[in-house]
Amino acid sequence: MSGVNEIRSTFLDYFKKNGHEVVASSPLVPRNDPTLMFTNAGMVQFKNVFTGLEKRSYSRAATAQKSVRAGGKHNDLDNVGYTARHLTFFEMLGNFSFGDYFKEHAIELAWNLITKEYGLNKDKLLVTVYHTDDEAAGYWKKIAGFSDDRIIRIATSDNFWAMGDTGPCGPCSEIFIDRGDHIWGGPPGSPEEDGDRFLEFWNLVFMQYEQVTKEQRIDLPRPSIDTGMGLERMASILQGVETVFETDLFRHLIDAASSAIGRGPDASNVGSYRVIADHLRSSCFLVADGVLPSNEGRGYVLRRIMRRAMRHAQLLGANEPLMWKLVPALVREMAQAYPELGRGEALITETLKLEETRFRKTLVRGLGLLADATETLGSGDMLDGETAFKLYDTYGFPLDLTQDALRQRSISVDLAGFTDAMARQKAEARANWAGSGEAATETVWFGIKDRNGATEFLGYETEQAEGVVL
Ligand code: ATP
Ligand code: MG
Ligand code: MG
Ligand code: MG
Repeated sequence: MSGVNEIRSTFLDYFKKNGHEVVASSPLVPRNDPTLMFTNAGMVQFKNVFTGLEKRSYSRAATAQKSVRAGGKHNDLDNVGYTARHLTFFEMLGNFSFGDYFKEHAIELAWNLITKEYGLNKDKLLVTVYHTDDEAAGYWKKIAGFSDDRIIRIATSDNFWAMGDTGPCGPCSEIFIDRGDHIWGGPPGSPEEDGDRFLEFWNLVFMQYEQVTKEQRIDLPRPSIDTGMGLERMASILQGVETVFETDLFRHLIDAASSAIGRGPDASNVGSYRVIADHLRSSCFLVADGVLPSNEGRGYVLRRIMRRAMRHAQLLGANEPLMWKLVPALVREMAQAYPELGRGEALITETLKLEETRFRKTLVRGLGLLADATETLGSGDMLDGETAFKLYDTYGFPLDLTQDALRQRSISVDLAGFTDAMARQKAEARANWAGSGEAATETVWFGIKDRNGATEFLGYETEQAEGVVL
């Protein structure tokens, strides 16, 4: 059985052997890309190479890329703990061709890796292609020997990738494994495709067009390849376990949490352990890359992740800050591959400990308030916006934490009421400020606030007065 570290090196060694330059992961905070919250795929660091803006000394590359999908366009925060396959932090293994090889060789390289190096059972594999991509379907037939029913044609954007409204784009082909009918779910394109039986583990993107304007799409003179395979998903397949949380690395993190808490997971609380292990990784890697918890932007996404984890620690009965105690276990598992974790260990530990110590004071009282406010509510009911706002404003509960806390009981939050309460509080703050007679300062201050409020980052939505009571 291969461990996560071995699976990563098998991937990189294989592509090196096949003429690829092994390039280090780029940081989670994208350089020179204000449009992106966090690095969420392997191709991010190569964007300008794909468009031709930047030249490199190699035309083939392979990476293990740290990726975070929380906040921003790709947001898997609400999936973690609920599906077998989603994490907020994961490693995306990828191979890239910058105008070098294209579709046929990309499929051949992928097929040989998964069947020969990783030894997957061919009979369990199936692929999707974009519905008009006869070329890709033809190569899968030829290279893998797949019959038509194992090559599923998909017409949605799931199988057509684009960098943005304009720029490089093209069809993609995804590789799935059927893990057996004891797991709920259906093949891609079926109504049950969101289940976990058919697990997507590799996406091959064929960049062959350039979208010049909304109407005009032209062929790229030198088409390129961008692929992404989830390391943790491959590990779950190779280790024969049903979820990414049962792979070696996660088992060790969950063990560390169990011994710190003094008891291990059971059927009723395993979700909390999984969330804690996942959020530990995203929090630590974000701090290592220079993000600190704050009330806006990236820092607020980090704070939301950390506080969600803390609520789960509280649910498990941890009576004192927990997350910071798990840092050594993560460093043990991952610092060899990502030395920044080891270098940042002291800062990470301090940051986690401080945030936990502060939030614990209001967490317990906030949870008490939430329990009282929802005592008479049941499945399908709504928590009033006023209470959700109070939790946010006075107790430092990000809105999504409150929603997460109520999800299991199928209680939602009155979002309109929440927004109203927030607007009312802002208006009151303005009025009070006006009353202080400092008119000039007021104009400047609220001007800045209004301008900064207008941004697409999710984290900014709740940027104002997050109000942690110390
Ligand atoms: P899914 O449909 O399962 O959400 P995706 O189609 O959003 O995955 P891609 O954007 O195609 O994923 O990313 C390429 C690969 O990265 C996926 O095939 C998967 O192996 C991995 N991956 C994507 N999102 C996650 C995640 N949240 N946690 C772990 N691995 C992921
Ligand atoms: Mg997804
Ligand atoms: Mg998908
Ligand atoms: Mg995909």
